[in-house]
Parts: sequence; C-alpha cells; structure tokens
Amino acid sequence: MSELAARLSAVRERIADAADAAGRDAHDITTVVVTKFQPVSLIRELASLGVRDIGENRHQEAQAKARELADLGLDWHFVGQLQGKKARQVRAYASVIHSVDRTSLVDALRSDEASVDCFVQVNLTDDPGRGGVDPEGLEDLVEHVLRTPGLRLLGLMAVAPLDEDARAAFARVRGLSDRIRPLAPEATALSMGMSHDYRDAILEGATHLRIGTAITGNRPAPG
Ligand SMILES: *Cc1c(COP(=O)(O)O)cnc(C)c1O
Repeated sequence: MSELAARLSAVRERIADAADAAGRDAHDITTVVVTKFQPVSLIRELASLGVRDIGENRHQEAQAKARELADLGLDWHFVGQLQGKKARQVRAYASVIHSVDRTSLVDALRSDEASVDCFVQVNLTDDPGRGGVDPEGLEDLVEHVLRTPGLRLLGLMAVAPLDEDARAAFARVRGLSDRIRPLAPEATALSMGMSHDYRDAILEGATHLRIGTAITGNRPAPG
C-alpha cells in the first residue's frame, strides 16, 4: 500500500470512529480532500483510491487542475477566498463553493443557468481578514443568497480559530445554523473540520470535512 493510501485509510477509519461516537452514519459525511499546492499526479492517485471530492483554494491552480483532470469526472470544491471578478470562472468548474461571504460576491455568482451549490462562510474570529461574514450579518447574507438565481445554499462553512477550543467553535457554528433554520429550512449542511479538528467537527454535526495534510502529507512549498 502506498503512503497516500495508508493515510487515506487511517483517516477514513477515524471518521467512521468519530461518526460512531456521535451516533451518526458515516455515509452522511462527505470528505473533501484539499489538494492545494499538490501535483495532479497525487489527485489521480486519490481518484484511483475512490476519492471523488477535491478541494482547492486558489482559482488559477484549481482551474488548471480541473482542466487537466477533466477525464476523471471529479467534483471540485472551491474553499478559498474568492474575488468577485473570478466568480464566473469558478462557477464553470466548481460543483460546490464553500466561501460565499459577502453580498457583492453573491451578485457576481448570479446566473440564470444551472445552479451551483454553495456554503455561506462565517468568520469565527475578530479579524475581518480571515474571510467569512461576521455572525451579525449572517441573516442578511443568507437572505441575499436565497433570492439570487443560480445559487443553491447547502449550509454554513467555518474554520476554527487558532485561539479557541475547536469543539466549542464548531458548537457555535451549529448554533448559527439553527438560527438560520427559519429562513433556510433546507440549508442544514455544515462544512467544518480540517486535519487537526475533524473529530470535533463530526461530534458537532459536520456534513462536509475539508481535510488536507492528514491525507496528502505535507504540502510542497507554494509554487
Ligand atoms: C488548506 C485548507 C484546508 C485543509 O487544511 P489541512 O490542515 O491541511 O487539513 C481546509 N479548509 C480550507 C479553507 C483550507 O484552505
């Protein structure tokens, strides 16, 4: 077994274990393998191991990889901060956009053609540079997504802050998800949990994990 295959299978086991502990079905949890800075050869190997959901955080890199690997029919998840002027291009290859965080980006993603799935990203820190909408503006942004054609809201996305217990942070996201339930009854998904905190995320109801290095190994230096 390759090292990649061994790490993937170890993570799959830990996901199953955490789902068990939470009394949840592991099949309800989608694992997005985040492959930023990794070569396309690694993504091909992941695909051969049964991975279908690939996450990237930079448009140019994601677009080039999606083009080169079009034959694999993978689902591309855009998880990084997104500039409005790149929005239409990202729509063209992404199945899911996890980082919708402001009304101007929603407007840029508007389309009268097929819908793209998306998450509204919430910022759990006091630093506006981290990406995500401030929880105070959450309802307004959700309403804006719901009335914009071409977007289907799946739920909320967040990154746990470095200075807060991850489980407590994910519990906050779950609370925010409950808060938007009257507005968006169907947007129940939660994109949260990375290499170091996916167990806590599963215990708090994550439906989409975004896992990089725990599966891929260390990232090469940015190119
Ligand atoms: C890189 C990245 C991840 C994966 O991080 P790891 O710590 O390698 O698991 C998840 N989410 C986002 C938004 C990222 O940029």
